[in-house]
Amino acid sequence: MRLVVLGGGESGVGAAILGKKLGMEVFLSDSGNITEHYAEMLRSHEIPYESGCHTESAIILADEVVKSPGIPPTAPIVKKIASKNIPIISEIEFAGRYTDAKMVCITGSNGKTTTTLLTYHILKNAGLNVGLAGNVGQSLALQVAYDKHDVYVIELSSFQLENMYRFRANVAVIMNITPDHLDRYDYKFQNYVDAKFRILQNQTVDDAFIFWQDDPVIQAQLKHIRVEAQLFPFAEHAEENTASYIDAENRLILSTDDDKMSMPRADLALNGLHNLFNSMAAGLSACLLDIQKDDIRKALSDFEGVEHRLEPVKTVNGVRYINDSKATNVNSCWYALESMPDAKTTVLILGGKDKGNDYTEIADLVDRKVKTIVAMGKDNAKIVEFFGNRGVKVVDTHSLVDAVAACAAESAEGDTVLLSPCCASFDLFNSYEDRGRQFKDAVRAL
Ligand code: ADP
Repeated sequence: MRLVVLGGGESGVGAAILGKKLGMEVFLSDSGNITEHYAEMLRSHEIPYESGCHTESAIILADEVVKSPGIPPTAPIVKKIASKNIPIISEIEFAGRYTDAKMVCITGSNGKTTTTLLTYHILKNAGLNVGLAGNVGQSLALQVAYDKHDVYVIELSSFQLENMYRFRANVAVIMNITPDHLDRYDYKFQNYVDAKFRILQNQTVDDAFIFWQDDPVIQAQLKHIRVEAQLFPFAEHAEENTASYIDAENRLILSTDDDKMSMPRADLALNGLHNLFNSMAAGLSACLLDIQKDDIRKALSDFEGVEHRLEPVKTVNGVRYINDSKATNVNSCWYALESMPDAKTTVLILGGKDKGNDYTEIADLVDRKVKTIVAMGKDNAKIVEFFGNRGVKVVDTHSLVDAVAACAAESAEGDTVLLSPCCASFDLFNSYEDRGRQFKDAVRAL
């Protein structure tokens, strides 16, 4: 069996190591750089690799290819492999073949990482032998190779799901579906929706599907597909068959077939409507894994939050600075604004690499809550035009330092400066983490 791995990051290197351990002939190819950390892992496992190019002749000898989710299906090498009818799978699909651990899989347009880490936090603190994988933590493949767990909590992006075929999620969660990454889906939203729903493929009646009951996109999709798994919808207010909701006494209710539990909403560690949904999804997942109620209550109330997601940075001259750098699409910014005070006291930093954004979704919230928009990107024309036309004050900046200085100038005591940019970061930064850290450094230096 000759396994070729495309991409030398966390998932690719993990898949290569697992393949090697299983006795396969492995070759890894990355058209960009491989960091020293991963190169060293490959060398120590005696796995041949190349970086900076794809040697086609070596790649098309593969019996199967594991492709990193970041490499688009339109990349020439991927098209070439497909034209040779060589199966292309994702690292999760590959690793999933070699474990019979329970799989809790979480996808959605927003809230994946928070819900994944919160679920992991509950299960880990309840004493389960649980691993964290997918977009966060170590690759599933590496854990299956060297650090086996009984349960995995896996964050799955639509990109990973695209190359999954036989993998079965015991608990599948779809947080929500709103337009994102449309550039990768031929600007066809349905293609993206279909990719997300692949999380349900192969589920049986013994499995569970947790989802946001009020999501119009999920509702529409459920009308024309058949779901085998048992349904556990969550919603702010109880509807038909809602498994998790807030009751009349402002308590969070979690109910599965066997059991029902409640806790005061005020005890939840994470604030905001979006985080209520994240707590519901994580709590239901934990109930389905038979975690004790007290353990669930405790973990939902002592979770410390996740960096770059509505992360309080510092209050300077009475102005609160919040880092929501992970808000890389319009919908996540909507939730960030939703949790801001109902007065024109927010200075909002928007901008970056546009992914086909439609700002109409946040226009009303901006009108109600935002006093100034500070645009921060290489090209701010779309933001300046859209919000300028609505009469919102927009300051045009092209670097983080200028943006933070503009925020300080535009804000007054009692205001909030919110970095929730609706865009990817790659025009000015290496990643959203880089953007968030630079923001925090600049704020702390004010
Ligand atoms: P993802 O991993 O799906 O990108 P994160 O948990 O990293 O999700 O959160 C990304 C952004 O979306 C953050 O800005 C956060 O404030 C916002 N967010 C978190 N949970 C939700 C949710 N359930 N619905 C909408 N937005 C959310």
